[in-house]
Amino acid sequence: MSLTEFSIIEKYFHQANKSRRDVVLGVGDDGAVVKVPNGYELVIAMDTLNSGVHFPTNTKPYDIGYKSVAVNLSDLAAMGAEPAWITLSLSMPQAEEKWIKDFSAGVFALLEKYDAQLIGGDTTQGSLSVTVQAHGFVPEGKALQRSGAKPGDAVYVTGSLGGAGLALSQQNVPSPILQKLTHPQPRINVGILLRYIASAAIDISDGLAADLNHILEKSGVGAVVNVEDLPMPAEFKKLDEDQALHLALTAGDDYELCFTVPQSNLDALEKIKEKLDCPVTRIGVVTSLNQLQFQYGDGSEYVIAKKGYQHFSS
Ligand code: ADP
Ligand code: MG
Repeated sequence: MSLTEFSIIEKYFHQANKSRRDVVLGVGDDGAVVKVPNGYELVIAMDTLNSGVHFPTNTKPYDIGYKSVAVNLSDLAAMGAEPAWITLSLSMPQAEEKWIKDFSAGVFALLEKYDAQLIGGDTTQGSLSVTVQAHGFVPEGKALQRSGAKPGDAVYVTGSLGGAGLALSQQNVPSPILQKLTHPQPRINVGILLRYIASAAIDISDGLAADLNHILEKSGVGAVVNVEDLPMPAEFKKLDEDQALHLALTAGDDYELCFTVPQSNLDALEKIKEKLDCPVTRIGVVTSLNQLQFQYGDGSEYVIAKKGYQHFSS
């Protein structure tokens, strides 16, 4: 059955039962009207998922909806922000009701988990493409940035690395690995607790090597990472070491956080560890050498072939 633009919006993108107190006006007018609490700043992030580029063309609509929100909440997490609202632009070749219903269920899954609200968007006909803009709050001056790392700071990552990359490159992976690709967990709780502890943070969308490099470049520093300390999914024990490390360092899509912590805050990090909803693992140290080096535990160098995904790279 085919639906019109307005009935799609009314039926699948209007959360009739949801109204945050800071939403003065949500879906249904020419624009949304919202309030930012006193003492907070608004963090805004936007990411687009294009069919065939960011997800395989046969991806389930629920998973596309889920991921379009997850990748944006992951950016908020990396800023230390608490999610509040999203807007959603959906372009699709045709209005197929079952597809839209499943897609919208995927969108609302994470919104409900974080009590965030869909407050507006756009619905158009065209190639399948989803753009979400996420809005979140952070106390004034407390947004985590890529630029604050200093020599001597410890380098950490959340969760495990490489699982999403394995699921992308191999059919029939075990369910926990597939989940890393299809249903990444934005590390919101970690980002919020790191506001007063981390010196820099980024979310890992393009692989640890590429994304840690962004912190290093913005901070004007380097780092040494011990590849034997990289947290990888348990299933990676079955892979040969080189394949495992290559995935952990260069495969994107894990949406874990990478962050740096000054030595003076390491005790504070230990104290909040039990409040975190995922493990955090120390993987290296920031240096003044302006380059990212990978080593084995014995100090010998590990050379990586490729640094991570880039659009438009030849
Ligand atoms: P306009 O023509 O004024 O841009 P639209 O017809 O595009 O209005 O949208 C009508 C209302 O529905 C607006 O409030 C808009 O934000 C909302 N909207 C449209 N598409 C979506 C969507 N996919 N998700 C959420 N809200 C949407
Ligand atoms: Mg419009």
